[in-house]
Amino acid sequence: MRVTLLGTGTSMGVPIIGCACPVCISADVRDKRLRTAALIETDGLTIAIDCGPDFRQQMLQHRVQHLDAVLFTHAHRDHTGGLDDVRAYNLWQQKPMPVYATQRVQQILKNHYDYVFVEDNKYAGAPNVELHTILNHPFTVNNRVTVTPIEALHGNDPVLGFRIHDFTYLTDASHVNSREEEKISGSKVLVLNALRQKKHWSHFNLPQALELINRLQIPKAYLTHISHQMGLHHEVESNLLPPHVRLAYDGLQITL
Ligand SMILES: [Zn+2]
Ligand SMILES: [Zn+2]
Ligand SMILES: [Zn+2]
Repeated sequence: MRVTLLGTGTSMGVPIIGCACPVCISADVRDKRLRTAALIETDGLTIAIDCGPDFRQQMLQHRVQHLDAVLFTHAHRDHTGGLDDVRAYNLWQQKPMPVYATQRVQQILKNHYDYVFVEDNKYAGAPNVELHTILNHPFTVNNRVTVTPIEALHGNDPVLGFRIHDFTYLTDASHVNSREEEKISGSKVLVLNALRQKKHWSHFNLPQALELINRLQIPKAYLTHISHQMGLHHEVESNLLPPHVRLAYDGLQITL
């Protein structure tokens, strides 16, 4: 199984338009973060987790020539803003793109992308997606890969993380209850959101993410969905993180 972190930045990305802080003007490529998304290659399938506004650029950078499915964590635009660009895969694969999302996320997608979901007189150039409804219950992608959702709170809204084999990916979480935490336990690798050092109402900050990783005794963890307020990549890693926790960066690949 191979995981590629396509983007590791918070909703505005890093650098932020118009910002001249030390992180936004850093020359370190690890301080340049596209919007958060991941690509999972396992059991012969290639699956995207989220499809944000940088989706096209991410797929081009990583030369992803075939995509079997998209899984959505939640419906915020920084995770869904690239849905129109699945058109390229419709063209090459000559079929609708399977999209796995909760009813709640599907409802928002239908509002944001009304032209994709119209029944009559659909524009021929619009993307074709095939919706699969997921619940907080294990499901299989294309009848091949079993995925266990982990439900968390993102401020007041539900968000899903996904466990596939011994890998768990959870972003945009600010609270996980103990029953859901159990599903993460035993993961060999966890990718978890940590927005910045200071507290935030809808995202784990650095101390909260580290506390969860330690409590669940996760042997290897990477922090994602990072804001420019986190600090410079090399400074945060060398001063604030234990060796088994690293800051994620765009393009990071993890093999399990
Ligand atoms: Zn987000
Ligand atoms: Zn900045
Ligand atoms: Zn969000």
